[in-house]
Amino acid sequence: MLRTVYIHFALLAAFAITAVGQVMAVELTDQATGATYAIAIHGGCGTAERLMPADVQAEYRDSLSTALQLGRKLLRDGIASLQVVEEVARAMEDDPLFNAGKGAAFNNQGEHELDASIMDGRTMSCGAVAGVRNVKNPISLARSVMQNTEHVLLVGAGAERLAEAMNVPPVDPDYFYTPRLRELWAAGDPSNPPRPDLGLSRGTIGVVAMDKQGNLSAATSTGGTSFKMPGRVGDTPIIGAGTYAKNGVCAISCTGRGEEFIRHSVAHTVVALMEYKQLAMHDAVQHVVDDVLEPDVGGIIAIGADGSIAVPFNTQAMLRGAADSSGRFDVAIWEEE
Ligand code: ASP
Repeated sequence: MLRTVYIHFALLAAFAITAVGQVMAVELTDQATGATYAIAIHGGCGTAERLMPADVQAEYRDSLSTALQLGRKLLRDGIASLQVVEEVARAMEDDPLFNAGKGAAFNNQGEHELDASIMDGRTMSCGAVAGVRNVKNPISLARSVMQNTEHVLLVGAGAERLAEAMNVPPVDPDYFYTPRLRELWAAGDPSNPPRPDLGLSRGTIGVVAMDKQGNLSAATSTGGTSFKMPGRVGDTPIIGAGTYAKNGVCAISCTGRGEEFIRHSVAHTVVALMEYKQLAMHDAVQHVVDDVLEPDVGGIIAIGADGSIAVPFNTQAMLRGAADSSGRFDVAIWEEE
């Protein structure tokens, strides 16, 4: 009798443990990847790009893989996430395929004005620049604003003066020029038929990472939207709109129509849903993409406190990549991938 009771108790206990384990497993699906480091990148989003030729698609996939490999190597070597997101963002800025640094979009005057921001989730320090015209790597200038000034956001000539003070030599504005983007620009105004054969007309870049210490960081850089008015600033350099990182919660980088991301403080809204409403990261980003943003506007890359990765978007394409310490290494463009 005693033995039977004991067995029943043991079974109940086992069930309870299993039940608790299952509940925890469900709750932690989003949180417990077991990854010791993780990185996600984006290279912009869009819809008209559906018709992009195979060779152009292949070039984008190659560029994404190269950037992702760099980030994975740095994280594997134990480099801090802040350094990793800056270095990967710099590499993507130097890649003329993306609309950031070299290859930046033209404004409606045929000029380039670049925006970037970076955030350190460990300290919540952040820095940003907007409307810079002669700085090769705006993301590094954003980091300089964060580390060498008491400010968060510097614009135009003031930001360029900081670059000079930091002994960063200016580049000629022609440095940002690429024939591909020029052709896209020359093809007319945005109401003309899109030119998918020329690749993405957007193409902002973003990087989020968790390092081996569990620190989260985010970086985003762009030439902004094609045909923008001179002086227009999108979400990319706006902390809380295009970029956010907070240890213990998540790191976010956005891409898409910046005005919409500013209006809804998208990056911080995700963090707020997680912190104040205890939403799991995947639910928070999916809710924002599906229910807060207008359709066909853009996407988000996010890394949670345990290295889980989410990359939802509501356009047909988002250039993206994800890798982590468990061996994950994916690069994708279309929604069905
Ligand atoms: N969000 C960027 C901006 O509005 C553009 C983009 O991501 O494609 O400037």
